[in-house]
Amino acid sequence: MQILGVPVNRVTMDEAVNCVEAFIADRRRPHLVVTANSEMVMRANEDPLLAHIMQRADLVVPDGIGVVWASRLLGEPLGSRVPGIELMHNLLSRSAERGWNVFLLGAEPGVAERAASNMQQAFPGLSIVGCRHGYFHRRDEEEIVAALQASSADILFLALGVPRQEKWAAAHLGRLNIPLAMGVGGSFNVWAGLERRAPQWMQKAGMEWLYRLLKQPARWRRMAVLPQFVLLVLWTKLQSAVSRSGT
Ligand code: UDP
Repeated sequence: MQILGVPVNRVTMDEAVNCVEAFIADRRRPHLVVTANSEMVMRANEDPLLAHIMQRADLVVPDGIGVVWASRLLGEPLGSRVPGIELMHNLLSRSAERGWNVFLLGAEPGVAERAASNMQQAFPGLSIVGCRHGYFHRRDEEEIVAALQASSADILFLALGVPRQEKWAAAHLGRLNIPLAMGVGGSFNVWAGLERRAPQWMQKAGMEWLYRLLKQPARWRRMAVLPQFVLLVLWTKLQSAVSRSGT
């Protein structure tokens, strides 16, 4: 379905994991998985390149409660959230089972390595073929691309923040020989033990965004678009109700 012009796939967590499995099996071309939340939908409305990348992505999962709420209001309910961090967790588990190689690109220096070691403890046998921090210059990109090409990775997780991770993947994925890439935002920080996820009750109540705002008040600038998102969705609903009543 479309939320404010941005596509989001109606998938459950299991379906998303199975889609990824099929993407990895299909070596003819690389695939991009995007995790959409309301902040990202608003950003795509102002950033044509991000919007284009999301439209062309192979899978866009409903990461945030905002997109699920919007889908319900717009009469095409998406079911439940598929949080990116949980999808990543399930893909790491599947990687250990299937022998897929994983590459971690992003976050502050040293974080990907710490995250990798915790991932390998959680999933014995998990093969992590490379780690690289996300604070590189343009001039370093060719070297990073070469490292990725030589890595035999099956999955590239990018923790560079939105929209850099999606743009970086879209720009380079065609020549990396890696069948799957997915942007995971701050997930390496959580895996490295630098940040915690919201408590279960807050996750269940759809308040994970509030927890992140309370923990990192500097996020308010980014989150200031959320009331606008709510108003735009209500406006879209009103418009469709009015146009239906006129027919
Ligand atoms: N980051 C990076 N390079 C940059 C900017 C950001 O590697 O140039 C990392 C940053 O260290 C953090 C992640 O990208 O680990 C973004 O996390 P954030 O919490 O903003 O993402 P969200 O989960 O909200 O999408």
